[in-house]
Amino acid sequence: MRIILFGPPGAGKGTQAKLIEKEYNIPQLSTGDMFRAAIKNQTPLGKKVKDILDSGKLVPDATVVELVEEALDDPRFEDGYILDGFPRTVPQAKAFEERLKKKGRKLKGFLSLEVPDEELMKRILSRGEGRADDTPEKVKVRLEVYNEETAPVLNYYKQQGVYRAIDGMGSIDEIYARIKEVLDA
Ligand code: ADP
Repeated sequence: MRIILFGPPGAGKGTQAKLIEKEYNIPQLSTGDMFRAAIKNQTPLGKKVKDILDSGKLVPDATVVELVEEALDDPRFEDGYILDGFPRTVPQAKAFEERLKKKGRKLKGFLSLEVPDEELMKRILSRGEGRADDTPEKVKVRLEVYNEETAPVLNYYKQQGVYRAIDGMGSIDEIYARIKEVLDA
């Protein structure tokens, strides 16, 4: 089963992806986690993207697409995966769809976690993960970037017929139950 978990920063993609991963036994791939690991380990990729992540802006499409393509070639993703944080721009979505087509694979669903802006800011500022981009100024940039560059990905997937809206308000369990309903249908 191949799933995209989509939504603005703070919508709870990572939290929900981990629950899906555990219950359905499908590995999660988070581009944000991969970039943070690269920065922590001071790899060439990490050095290249550190300032970008710190600023709240997006890593260039070519860099992200190459990273994801390479990662998904790992045999552990052969039977499925949950994408968290990718695709985040329309060019990324197009590159990903191209890959699926080439491999003869289908997407089970594009699950969009929908949460109002005010709530997102609150959640991020209260989660205390110590991320350099979790300050009010950086969150503001991330939400702007989301609205300008990432939200168009929604329309792209609406046209593909796999878009499912998930109400992202409520407890973690309530939101997860809504996701399960879609995945089990
Ligand atoms: P959040 O959803 O909370 O903003 P992520 O962990 O998904 O956090 O991403 C953190 C940062 O990593 C982004 O602000 C961006 O700089 C970079 N990033 C992650 N995924 C992508 C992507 N698909 N394209 C471009 N940049 C990305």
